[in-house]
Amino acid sequence: MSDRPRGFRGFRRHRLGMIGLAMLGIAVVVAFVAPLLAPYDPYANVTITIADIFQPPSGSHLLGTDDGAKDVLSALIYGARVSLIVGFAGAIISMLVGGTMGLIAGYRAGWLGQVLMRITDFFLVIPDLALLIVLVAIVGQSLRNIILAIGLLGWTGTARLVRSQTLSVRERKFVLRAKAMGAGDWYMLRRHVIPQVLPLMLANTVLVVSLAIISESTLAFLGLGDPRLISWGQMLNLGFTRGAVSAGAWWAIIPPGLAIVWVVLSVTLIGTALEDLLNPKLTRHHLEPEEIVATSPSGAQPVEDVLLDVRDLTVAFEGEQGPLIAVENVSFEVGRGRVVGIVGESGCGKTTTVLGALRLLAPGGKIVDGQVLLDGLDLSRMEPDELRRLRWDRVAIVFQGAMNALNPVRTIGSQIVEVIRTHDGDITKDTARARAGDLLEMVGIPRRRVRAHPHELSGGMRQRAMIALALACEPDLIIADEPTTALDVMTQAQILELLEDLQEQLGVSMVVVTHDLGVVNDACDDVVVMYGGRVAEKGPVARVFREPQHPYTRLLLDAFPTIEDPGRPLVSIPGAPPRLSDLPPGCRFAPRCPSAFERCHEELPPLYVTRSGEASCFLLAEPAFAGDEGV
Ligand code: SF4
Repeated sequence: MSDRPRGFRGFRRHRLGMIGLAMLGIAVVVAFVAPLLAPYDPYANVTITIADIFQPPSGSHLLGTDDGAKDVLSALIYGARVSLIVGFAGAIISMLVGGTMGLIAGYRAGWLGQVLMRITDFFLVIPDLALLIVLVAIVGQSLRNIILAIGLLGWTGTARLVRSQTLSVRERKFVLRAKAMGAGDWYMLRRHVIPQVLPLMLANTVLVVSLAIISESTLAFLGLGDPRLISWGQMLNLGFTRGAVSAGAWWAIIPPGLAIVWVVLSVTLIGTALEDLLNPKLTRHHLEPEEIVATSPSGAQPVEDVLLDVRDLTVAFEGEQGPLIAVENVSFEVGRGRVVGIVGESGCGKTTTVLGALRLLAPGGKIVDGQVLLDGLDLSRMEPDELRRLRWDRVAIVFQGAMNALNPVRTIGSQIVEVIRTHDGDITKDTARARAGDLLEMVGIPRRRVRAHPHELSGGMRQRAMIALALACEPDLIIADEPTTALDVMTQAQILELLEDLQEQLGVSMVVVTHDLGVVNDACDDVVVMYGGRVAEKGPVARVFREPQHPYTRLLLDAFPTIEDPGRPLVSIPGAPPRLSDLPPGCRFAPRCPSAFERCHEELPPLYVTRSGEASCFLLAEPAFAGDEGV
């Protein structure tokens, strides 16, 4: 389902990551079995003659000898031990120090956070290498001191990274909710913050390993390594200071240099792969089209008079335990000049359906099956460039929450001009400005407000401005996602009236996503009722509202007040829509359905043709429901 499996299975599919792992694996094995692999003991004392020094590669010394007549290959093999120990131990210290500093600074953003960040900044501006040299010179050149010095100086990058990630996680709604529940700081950090920060920290630690190896090699090269141990940096140092260059003994210098490159490259490849796998958000912005993985055969023919034809659309998101189906087999059509309302409670998949249809899903989400035909063009398989051109030109979207969808630092006019000129490079700025004024007037905003910033407009005006923005390129289809949410009743009515007028005036087709049945009743021709990511019922509004066939539609209507019957008691639907990670095995509505019976808990009901359209309920398959059949 998902093409980004988690854990080692996902890592195995990352080719560069696997190459890095194999390279590092070779280095680690060599370090472990050094005494078995090395032809000579580089730590042994040997009696030498002048002729033994800087011997070129031969059968007895595959990589020649160094200035002390020691076998270079054996030194290279033993050197892997020191370089890897310093690399990993230094990186772990950096991660612990930097991770703790970053977590505290991000979670306690007050004075404590500020103090910790100033300390971090202080260490950041001091040149690492200079400080490292001074520190090692003071504390002594033992392996333990070198590891501590590298670890304690290499934490600053990790601290900044962890802090920024913690700051962002701290503001998320689930953390605020946990706080509101009375959870303590340690609980919040352990259960909510650290699990979100850890993947990035892990990927960063792998990259810090390479920095630690380079630092150790540099220290050793400068003569500040542990003189009792052989490391690759030490080999380079001895090669350069004891005449390997003047003697032309390349074999004493090139192999340790290549060994350092080998290990640094391997951990960099692993770190990059981990970053890709653990944080897919790093690789894609949510307004970029996701990879196409739809599996249904393409080439379906467009239906006459149908502008948008959504067929069996299935959308999945990556979850901790694997893919989560957010929308499943959703099909509906939008006729030319018609308005279709998609309705249901929050979390039923309405917005995901329309964002999926336009391939504007949040990171981690993708279409895994189905087709979306706009005038016969399959959006689910379209190349990103083609899709980008088509958006706004043929289909525009009015996003939820106009204040967030409009750029707060730019005028309304400039944002409309930007859209017009992005899609029509030939249009002059003045013409585009004049058109922006026309559009604002069309939606009931005085032309002079083109110079207004979003914060200078009321909520209703901002929503009108969003609609003007959507009309900028005269699209065939407008998708309005909760266009009246957060507006007062009077403004809601005005916006709905505006949408109706524009639809009549321009003949544009619309999809209105809403949880408000009143909006559907007033503004839509057809309705799609969604529940648990599936279509519960669909058909012409007049018929579905007069004769609802699905228990969910009936309950939704019963929960909605009407002017015709003001005395009717309103019902509330007990429970809540299912979570994606915990979908019931049978009918998605079964746990809340007053009419549920055994079969409902075992099988998913198909869509049945009904008197008012189609509905997905086993009750419609009963013999009493004469004339209806499954589709
Ligand atoms: S299939 Fe069963 S549970 Fe689902 S809506 Fe119909 S009666 Fe209720």
